Amino acid sequence: MAELEAVIGLEIHVQLATRTKMFCGCELSFGDEPNVHTCPVCLAHPGVLPVTNEQAIRYALQIAAALECEVAPRSIFHRKNYFYPDSPKAYQISQYDVPLASNGRLGDVRIHRAHLEEDAAKTIHVGDSGRIHGSSASLVDFNRGGTPLVEIVTEPDLRSAAEAASWARLLRETVRQLGVSDVNMEEGSLRVDGNISVRPAGSEELGTKTELKNMNSFRFLERGIEAELARQRELVEAGGTVAQETLHFNPSDASLTPLRSKEEAHDYRYFPEPDLVSLVPTEEMLREARESLPELPAARIERYRKQMGLAEDTAALLATDPATAAYFEQTAKEAGKGVEPRVVANWVTGELAAALRQDGGDAGAAESKVEPAALAALVAMVQEKKISNSSGKAVLATLVAEGGDPAAIVDREGLAQISDSGELESIVAAAIEANPDAAEQVRAGNRKAIGAIVGFVMKQTKGRADGGEINRLIEAQLDARAG
Ligand SMILES: [Zn+2]
Repeated sequence: MAELEAVIGLEIHVQLATRTKMFCGCELSFGDEPNVHTCPVCLAHPGVLPVTNEQAIRYALQIAAALECEVAPRSIFHRKNYFYPDSPKAYQISQYDVPLASNGRLGDVRIHRAHLEEDAAKTIHVGDSGRIHGSSASLVDFNRGGTPLVEIVTEPDLRSAAEAASWARLLRETVRQLGVSDVNMEEGSLRVDGNISVRPAGSEELGTKTELKNMNSFRFLERGIEAELARQRELVEAGGTVAQETLHFNPSDASLTPLRSKEEAHDYRYFPEPDLVSLVPTEEMLREARESLPELPAARIERYRKQMGLAEDTAALLATDPATAAYFEQTAKEAGKGVEPRVVANWVTGELAAALRQDGGDAGAAESKVEPAALAALVAMVQEKKISNSSGKAVLATLVAEGGDPAAIVDREGLAQISDSGELESIVAAAIEANPDAAEQVRAGNRKAIGAIVGFVMKQTKGRADGGEINRLIEAQLDARAG
């Protein structure tokens, strides 16, 4: 049987951080006492009329611009009918056949559509999962009902759980940097569902998909998709077929529970919302959305790769968080022309990240005591071989702990590289004398044996000599003696 390939698309709900709700003037505020932010409109009293929140439209247009979407000149709102206690109108105002935005892209993933809608109220199950007996009940908090949402639907372009989680992170950072949402997964202002299927590798056809819900962290998102892919692979490999259904992921034991068989669109009896006019963004709104965009992570990753020659994963590590990006760029600038950005990037993502971990704090580079100018000076000293690589690491550990000026630390600790080749040569000679067995083995062709001699020199010089230079001198001296 052909190997099975994972096919994953994501549906992301982003709560917009507007001051008021989507169709009424109620304040939006997370964590307040239940049912204090309500009015006849969001409680669906008879005879009330919704009014679209202009700020929500502007925010949605910013998301559309960031995702390089085409914006519909005229889109419309629909009623999506369903009965549930979290929906007092018994329908949700959403967009259906003509969404606000479509055909976009973020990184390597195509965006199918992005549309505006309102959030449902929050149902809280108390006691024995909602039966109205004794102490168990379902409570409804209408504070959330009517919160503006943008729903973003990707094409099924993701091919692994890890890829899906890392792309969702990129999306979150992108939306966060627009400043249009808190994008907090635990509080539910960013919610990610997965559409998951498998198919024989190389096939163009899509298999039957399941929808995976309740993954309220990126770790759970990855684990949930992983678990569902494993379930589908096992099923298909045993000759079974995948049923279209919605599954709830339980992170405590990685189990998947069916919620309901997936509704077809016609179950919702969509029809155009008669109480709202079409959504027609003005030229000014579209221009403002485009011009308000900061440099976003995906564009920055591209710039780091193309203009600075960084590897893709290094670029992603540095470009995603704006503070880290600013730190890296400042360091590269301070280091000057003599040091390639690639080298600075490797210090920030490699040595500095390791030293910060070692230090035990969870501060990133930008919050650390290591000033960009200090790191730049340190990297330059190592590049110019004024200090050895291992001394460089020692200085960095001091910088992480205390901050300060690397040149002063080098002076204070006597770490300047031994530049007197005569001095180093005599230490190498002594090292060979002291390790006759190793010297013999190296002469006999066992290259690894040189480590003992190098280690002896390092110890004698307290790491103040260049590793490459030490190796070169040992080999030269052994060759001379052999001859
Ligand atoms: Zn209201």
